[in-house]
Amino acid sequence: MLLSEIRLSFHQQLAPIYPPQEADSLFFWCAEHYLLCSRQQLHQQMNKNTSPEAEKKMLAALQRLQKNEPVQYILGETDFLDLKIKVGPGVLIPRPETEYLVHSILQEIPKYEPLHIADLCTGSGCMAIALAKHLPKAKVWGTDLSVTALQIAAENARQSKVTITWVPDDLLNSRFQPEKLDLIVSNPPYVRMLEKNSMHKNVLDYEPPEALFVDDGNPLIFYKAIARFALRFLLPAGFVYLEINEYLGAEMEALFTAQGFRQVELLKDLEGKTRFLKAMHP
Ligand code: GLN
Repeated sequence: MLLSEIRLSFHQQLAPIYPPQEADSLFFWCAEHYLLCSRQQLHQQMNKNTSPEAEKKMLAALQRLQKNEPVQYILGETDFLDLKIKVGPGVLIPRPETEYLVHSILQEIPKYEPLHIADLCTGSGCMAIALAKHLPKAKVWGTDLSVTALQIAAENARQSKVTITWVPDDLLNSRFQPEKLDLIVSNPPYVRMLEKNSMHKNVLDYEPPEALFVDDGNPLIFYKAIARFALRFLLPAGFVYLEINEYLGAEMEALFTAQGFRQVELLKDLEGKTRFLKAMHP
């Protein structure tokens, strides 16, 4: 098949579930991966025949995309800042807003200090690994309840050539006792069940619900645990940087202020949504 014919198949087969622009970017995402070409090279090859192996992989990916499977799970990896991060059904796919949070943290903290950092509910390990990669003197811990997630995170750390201490730990009944910390980051579950009907099938049918959802009646349960943990283990001038539910900014601010944290600040993501909370130890 010509590459342009495969592109057309992507458009035709994905039309019922994705708008044309998204179908096109899914085509390029897969083609870059399986043909090992840049987008520009692909444009120049549109009217050339695709190798039988690459064609087979592209069409197999298309079949999975038709079932709403996220492209990142199909390819087994995604980009996170300048890193390649392996992902699979046991971990949440890193989102651009989380990437933006890490980018913002890196702009605000000193690069060559021996900081102690913990990433709670690390999942694929993307935040812990990106911080370790860009802060060469930092000592980093990553915790998660899921052993599968920690295995993927450890593989990601090896691939990115950073050393992180992975700790199996249930944040809601935490037994993790790290050295005193300069920084705590976390992107815990925060989507309320009532928000489920506004979410896409590719998220709902494939991503781990335990990494996403919280009860409507106690949506800040993980942040309450983070605040307790931070009060015990954060150094006096230490900070927490958290990804939060865009609809619960006021409640989050109130929670951390009531616990005595200083300089509690809500930050926006690139779309202008209230998406992060930064606070300093009391
Ligand atoms: N931002 C993610 C989503 O919208 C949720 C991440 C989380 O619950 N921590 O799917």
